[in-house]
Amino acid sequence: MRRLRQLAGVPVTELAGVGPKKAEGLAVLGISSVLDLLMHYPRRYIDRTNQAHIADLGLGEEGMVLGRVRRVQSRRTRNRRSLVEVDVTDGSGYLRCTFFNQAWRANQLKAGTSAIFFGKLEEFQGRRRMTNPVVDLVGDRTGRIVPVYPQSDKAGLTTWELGAWVEEALGRAGTLADPVPVEVVERYGLVDRTAALHGIHLPASASEHRAARLRLVFDELLRIQLVLVRRKRDLELRAVGIAHDVAGGLVERFHRRLPFPLTDAQRRALAEIEADLAASVPMHRLLQGDVGAGKTLVALSALLVAVEGGRQGAFMAPTEVLAEQHHASIRGLLEGLTLADEGGNLFDERPVRVESLTSRSTPSERSRLAGALASGEVDIVVGTHALIQEKVAFRSLGVAVIDEQHRFGVEQRAALREKGEAIPDVLVMTATPIPRTAAMTVYGDLDVSVLDELPPGRTPVVTRWARTAAEEAEAWACVAAEVEAGHQAYVVCPLIEESDKLEARSAQETYDRLSTGELAGLRLGLLHGRVGVKDKEVAMEAFRAGRIDVLVATTVIEVGVDVPNATVMVVIDADRFGLAQLHQLRGRVGRGSAASWCYLLADAADVVADGQARLEALERTSDGFELAEVDLGLRGEGTLMGAHQKGRSDLRLASLRRDEVWVGRAREVAFELVDGEGGLDGHPLLVDEVALLLGADDSADDERTEFLFKS
Ligand code: ADP
Ligand code: MG
Repeated sequence: MRRLRQLAGVPVTELAGVGPKKAEGLAVLGISSVLDLLMHYPRRYIDRTNQAHIADLGLGEEGMVLGRVRRVQSRRTRNRRSLVEVDVTDGSGYLRCTFFNQAWRANQLKAGTSAIFFGKLEEFQGRRRMTNPVVDLVGDRTGRIVPVYPQSDKAGLTTWELGAWVEEALGRAGTLADPVPVEVVERYGLVDRTAALHGIHLPASASEHRAARLRLVFDELLRIQLVLVRRKRDLELRAVGIAHDVAGGLVERFHRRLPFPLTDAQRRALAEIEADLAASVPMHRLLQGDVGAGKTLVALSALLVAVEGGRQGAFMAPTEVLAEQHHASIRGLLEGLTLADEGGNLFDERPVRVESLTSRSTPSERSRLAGALASGEVDIVVGTHALIQEKVAFRSLGVAVIDEQHRFGVEQRAALREKGEAIPDVLVMTATPIPRTAAMTVYGDLDVSVLDELPPGRTPVVTRWARTAAEEAEAWACVAAEVEAGHQAYVVCPLIEESDKLEARSAQETYDRLSTGELAGLRLGLLHGRVGVKDKEVAMEAFRAGRIDVLVATTVIEVGVDVPNATVMVVIDADRFGLAQLHQLRGRVGRGSAASWCYLLADAADVVADGQARLEALERTSDGFELAEVDLGLRGEGTLMGAHQKGRSDLRLASLRRDEVWVGRAREVAFELVDGEGGLDGHPLLVDEVALLLGADDSADDERTEFLFKS
């Protein structure tokens, strides 16, 4: 029985009919070994009994036609574009396919060639026609179901040639070893590895194809989960953490002093976190909750557990503005909270000491703070990357909270862990609504707590896509009216991803235009990435204090900015933003009990299909999880495990949406195998495949995280 690694060692030139020339073509597709070839799955299948006849296709309908080329003509149009006209017949009728700027089609589609043409049927000068249809060369395969391989024409190969080589390869490979325990295969009614590869390439029926796909999907997902689960278990084994005492009364006193009760979701999450804190295995948990769900409170409670036990807490935010803001709000929340003073006598109480460290701190403030952290005089420090990038030493770091993980790399997380002699417990907070399946995959080495409930009394934000100039005017009128009523507003400037500088300039222009135009007479403030740290803080402070009515800003306000009095947001050129980003932005309003609005400006005529779907989704729902699903659907899945395996996506067949239940099953099996007797080493074939296909078990999870969250 052959193993995949053996197939990976056989070059495609071993196959009959693959000479140097064809091998070059295959290389274009990233195929050099027989394994590469077998993992180059068909893009779709043509069921010959189901294809349309030219005569039956209705005008304006999309259809797939298998025909033979009768005649080819090349010429140039008046404006010098190349034009190839191909006349096709299938026995039921004639079809003319016109190709613009594809002069090479004349060589590809010589008279007598059989090909599949996929396109929309038009009528032109009384003739049935398709313009620039998709073409697949099929040759004379006789099977009922013909596999169509992706991009074969790009490589100068026909899908038929590929099919023939695959068939030969499958035949010569014979029976393949199955790395998955037979008990698991049977539990889920999966077909074996050999049948799966045959069924995906040369299915005899639709049901055979379905079964083959499921098996290969399971294998893909299992490999990923094995990497993640093993990483998680390794970490837990190797790492010596802190068993915090969670029985003290500080957290409870803190909660009693709040002007509101915790939500059930907050209680649940905190119970999960406290269980981790009490264990000697280091916590590595993701706290996921929609904007405004109250994550800060939960995180702060975790920090207080460390503080009560005589250790320190660190709270890291992705930006200066946010760090300052967290610092201010944490101070506010802890105002007046005291704990027993170890140094003093039994009854001495002292306040919880919170400090911040950002790039705004002066050198002397820094060295003072460094000293205080090292001696343990500071309980909680709030800051940005500066906290870990600099040589900050803690007396005893107990718990670290990282806000918005996707802006923090793995390295930073690792650096943070080095700050204590025992590994501190780490809580990662994210407002990015990650669908459950993606969370299991992307954050597969973390445990997850979810805040799936907003504090009561929030009114949902009314969201309008302003499609016309008249609707835009409505948005500005709403801003004016809200300011009149004593509320505040944000205006979000167009996103210019390519350049900070351009973005800043455009923000300045927006500010100038609005202050003399639509929003003349209101008190405007400006905030963008190029504003100095000091001025940034001044602007934020003025807005918080209500001295500014309208904050004109770039996405620097995307996360965490918390001004409950702000009730309107206007996003300019909203179609340029990603869905997740718009949802985050919108979360800046609707934080108080007053009704709130979010206007998304984008001229309907300029918005492309995806943008339209995004804006409509935002109008329809404010449920972050639903939006994340929409987003995933729009952007597709791509590569999860990082780009280090070039051209070899680890999710070729699996879809996190469509195969959701299989993600869960694969994860379960991964735990069984890793935790089972003998561990993963008892399954050497699986270990070998994971190493072969995913580049072993290493880190590099930055890029995959990036992919899912880049909008
Ligand atoms: P997140 O970080 O999840 O976006 P925050 O922690 O900033 O949310 O909380 C948003 C707002 O809700 C804050 O003003 C906070 O004080 C308030 N808040 C948090 N928990 C509750 C609760 N249980 N009831 C009412 N308000 C709450
Ligand atoms: Mg612990």
